[in-house]
Amino acid sequence: MGDILNHWIGGATVEGESTRTSPVYNPALGTVAKEVRLATVGDIATAVAAAKAAFPAWAETSLAKRQAVIFNFRQLLNERKEDLARILTAEHGKVLSDALGEIARGLEVVEFASAIPHLMKGEYSENVSTGVDVYTTREPLGVVGIISPFNFPAMVPLWFFPIAIAAGNAVVLKPSEKDPSAANWMAELFAEAGLPDGIFNVVHGDKVAVDALIEHPDVASISFVGSTPIARYIYENAAKQGKRVQALGGAKNHMLVLPDADLDLAADAAVNAGFGSAGERCMAISVLVALEPIADELVAKIAERMKGLKVGDGLRSCDMGPLITREHRDKVSGYIDLAATDGATVVVDGRGVGVDGEADGFWLGPTLFDKVPVSSKVYVDEIFGPLLSVIRVQTFEEGIELINSGPYGNGTAIFTNDGGAARKFQREIQVGMIGVNVPIPVPVAYHSFGGWKHSMFGDTKAYGVDGVRFFTQEKAITRRWLDPSHGGINLGFPENR
Ligand code: NAD
Repeated sequence: MGDILNHWIGGATVEGESTRTSPVYNPALGTVAKEVRLATVGDIATAVAAAKAAFPAWAETSLAKRQAVIFNFRQLLNERKEDLARILTAEHGKVLSDALGEIARGLEVVEFASAIPHLMKGEYSENVSTGVDVYTTREPLGVVGIISPFNFPAMVPLWFFPIAIAAGNAVVLKPSEKDPSAANWMAELFAEAGLPDGIFNVVHGDKVAVDALIEHPDVASISFVGSTPIARYIYENAAKQGKRVQALGGAKNHMLVLPDADLDLAADAAVNAGFGSAGERCMAISVLVALEPIADELVAKIAERMKGLKVGDGLRSCDMGPLITREHRDKVSGYIDLAATDGATVVVDGRGVGVDGEADGFWLGPTLFDKVPVSSKVYVDEIFGPLLSVIRVQTFEEGIELINSGPYGNGTAIFTNDGGAARKFQREIQVGMIGVNVPIPVPVAYHSFGGWKHSMFGDTKAYGVDGVRFFTQEKAITRRWLDPSHGGINLGFPENR
């Protein structure tokens, strides 16, 4: 066994009181690289106390000084992003170029957060009544909790903590225990950038830590990203404690290809969005809906491209890495037998794929199914692996109905050269993020990220202006400077005069 990864609390490495640990694998090698500590309720209390103690001074720190720390963090993160990318590849398995892409999207949010003096501005109405002005201010919440999934160990925490911290809050981050090292690395970098101790704390753990965080009375809000059942659990239970909650869940994203589309562009997009990061992206395309008569041609083009994909160790310039754990790989590959049993055509079977990597890595090659019945669990479940299902429809309306019939509403895309069809799709589809000839429509940092239906619980999305709103509370001040004409008793409700 290698090292043990500890918590980061109050600006220092902290072992905490727990004796429980969890293995962290290198999925390309199939070996345990280190263990991570699993926090107790007491460890969470220690982190929340450190955050609570640090919060008042940070909230009082001027916008210009907070902004300077964000700038420093942005500079350091950009300079050392290759180091972070190697950590992501070693623990998650995604290929190095993809890890750098993840960091680039996270850096965007840091850059957005550096505009915090502008973003915190309130509104002002003069003379709403004679001699009376109304204005609003935005204040931080206090201690905020963030709970993140395994699939973006840098980007998803970066969706939240730069804005939370820039707005004057103190953070307790509980990252995924499957690939936890990136969180410590980022927290230490932020400290180097000049962030005061206790403003950014990282506590590792499992359900025990999560429950302690959502139940702690000094935690004002919870930002969660993960699977739908846990997102719903977090939303309900954190709200029960009176906390502000945003809980982003799972997905099953469809890409609808119309017959007039550029089929080569659509085939490229389907391969990139279906198999990038081994399909372990919440915005991955897992279902391609082909409007006849193009399905045969499109399936052939996709299968042809899949032959060229190189699967292997993310450090060896491959296209696709391993899955996160052996259990997850086995669960995902189980769907290949199920697809055949349920009557789908297995066009490309990723089991036994040739791999540029160690034999024990958690490998599964890109897999393509055609004519998947919508009753099959292959279609219904969020599989979260490199399995792409094709479903054939006879009309455009049938395609829209199919996409709208599912429980998720995270992302979707349409491929067409018909502007009218794209507009109809955009208006009728019940999904939060839509791509038109763009397969993974993750909004840039100055818009906001969030799905509909069971892909998100809560009403305030991640990052962008929604992120600033989530991590601040507004005060409205109605102000009058006294003058003698305003005297006298009047028990009526204040009216504007
Ligand atoms: P997960 O739900 O298993 O875990 C997410 C977090 O919750 C982790 O920190 C984990 O430790 C914690 N957790 C797990 N089980 C728990 C329990 N029973 N009680 C309390 N906490 C628990 O998700 P994952 O497997 O790490 O990530 C993949 C999932 O995340 C997929 O469903 C994917 O679609 C989703 N995801 C969604 C988005 C989005 O923006 N909507 C982004 C990325 C990932």
